[in-house]
This record gives sequence, structure tokens and C-alpha cells, in this order.
Amino acid sequence: MGFRIGQGYDIHQLAEGRELILGGVSIPHTKGLLGHSDADVLSHAITDALLGALSLGDIGTHFPDTDPEYKGADSIELLKHSYKLVTEKGYELVNADATIIAEKPKIKPFILQIRERISSALHADVDAISIKATTSEKMGFVGREEGIAAQAIVLLKAL
Ligand code: MG
Repeated sequence: MGFRIGQGYDIHQLAEGRELILGGVSIPHTKGLLGHSDADVLSHAITDALLGALSLGDIGTHFPDTDPEYKGADSIELLKHSYKLVTEKGYELVNADATIIAEKPKIKPFILQIRERISSALHADVDAISIKATTSEKMGFVGREEGIAAQAIVLLKAL
């Protein structure tokens, strides 16, 4: 009974003049994600999955986008903070699996770097962090390159 599972989903708009950051990694692209923080959609989805696993609310309750403290925030720091809440509740990460849904750019060359960044934030082995990427086959808002979405699932076990 010492296991908890959580899932997270997030989406941000793509806009000109913004840096594209996914999983704490800056990815060269003509557009970046728009948001109050650095709009790192992948880190947000994993953060929500961690919080959800322990019924701790969501990223918006812990880091309100109306709070100037989080303007331009590094979302890896929000992820670290959420994982601290997880350990304080007596749990640790078993593994995380996430999917980035983006038409462009190609994410594959950055996958290992993203896995390393997320695993170090969560004090986990790289093998415990799976990051995948898919396109939307040119359909819908992702297909029109209006935004990028991410979903994540995590398993926690009691310490
Ligand atoms: Mg978000």
C-alpha cells in the first residue's frame, strides 16, 4: 500500500521573442512558450504529477501566476520545491514517464539532456526518468504550431 501514482498535463502558447525551455533545457527555435514563469510546459506537467500523487493540489495553488515572485521563474526550481514536499510527506520517486507534444522543433536531440536535468532535480537515476516526444501529425493547435503540450505520470513509494 506504500505506493501513490500521479498524472499531470500542461499546455502553453508559442510566441515570438521567447526562449523555448523544456525540462530546464534551452532549445533553439524561432518561438518560445508564453507564460508568467519560464513556461516550461514539461516541468509543469511533472510538477503537477508529483503534487497530484499525494493530493497536494496543483502547481497553480503552490505557485500562483498572479504572484510577482514567480514572474520569469525557473520551473526546475518549482519542480525541486514540489519534490521537497513529496519527501516531507515521506515519499520518494520510483519513476516518471512524460510525453512532449510538439510539431516543431525536433526534440529528440535534447532528450538525454532533459532526462539528466529532470533526474538531477528529483535526485533520481536517469534511468528512472523517461521523456518522449511526439508530433500532432499537423492536426489541431499543436499541429498548427500554436502551442506545445506535455503530459506526465509519476510513481512514488513510501520511504
Ligand atoms: Mg504551465
